[in-house]
Amino acid sequence: MGKPLIEIQNLSFQYGTNQVLKHVNLVVEEGEFLGLVGPNGSGKSTLLKIILGLLEPTVGEIKLFGQPIERFRDWKKIGYVSQKANSFNRGFPATVEEVVETGLYGSIGLFRRIHKSHREKVKETLRLVGLEEFSKRNISKLSGGQQQRVFIARAIVSQPQLLILDEPTVGVDTESVHQFYQLMGKLNHDLGMTLILVSHDIGMVTEKVTKLVCLNKQLFFHGTPKEFAQQQRVLEKTYGSEMSLITHHHHLEES
Ligand code: ADP
Repeated sequence: MGKPLIEIQNLSFQYGTNQVLKHVNLVVEEGEFLGLVGPNGSGKSTLLKIILGLLEPTVGEIKLFGQPIERFRDWKKIGYVSQKANSFNRGFPATVEEVVETGLYGSIGLFRRIHKSHREKVKETLRLVGLEEFSKRNISKLSGGQQQRVFIARAIVSQPQLLILDEPTVGVDTESVHQFYQLMGKLNHDLGMTLILVSHDIGMVTEKVTKLVCLNKQLFFHGTPKEFAQQQRVLEKTYGSEMSLITHHHHLEES
């Protein structure tokens, strides 16, 4: 068993009177590639925001890298690619390498100079995501899939141990989705990065991840994709009436 990087105990959360998470217990271990799935409004983004320290749980305990989240300061260990990275302002006047450099501001301080070693890191990271030749290009000139890889590069340039991605494949073409999962494989297998990926595409996710979580306010499943395949009723419980829609879509994608 790997070292626990995230330990969530009896977590509940409400926005006002709207209860969004109920009694969630979850441990994420080092080296896992965890897929988090659930219907719209099931609390996935809220759970991520709590893990990132942006929202406080109404009830429950969270530990990050073994430390209670209230005392955790080592945020450099966690990278995050938000949903908004996809709907990025296309007029933004910055080059690819400048955008990736902003991922280093946490470690170098906003107004200090970028050193050669930082430039090297940026270059190395762009090579890793397959965008080295685009480093001087304005980001607005890139395709949606390429822009997405720039934002992944920005999140990993400071070499976090854990990378969290919120619906990163929404609105990108099939080839980019393929490249995205290839990159995730590299980060997870070759670099040993622990990954948490929120996705609506349950068919794709179950093929790629090592662990799966089905959430709809409560946690309905946590286990390997193989275990998931043996428990089909989980889908019904998690998605309710949306289930037929999801399986239908998946069926269409396969055919
Ligand atoms: P998901 O990411 O699974 O789509 P969210 O965590 O975004 O789900 O939302 C869960 C529920 O919380 C939804 O009912 C949503 O309307 C509500 N919600 C999300 N963000 C806020 C907010 N800032 N204020 C109030 N309610 C919110």
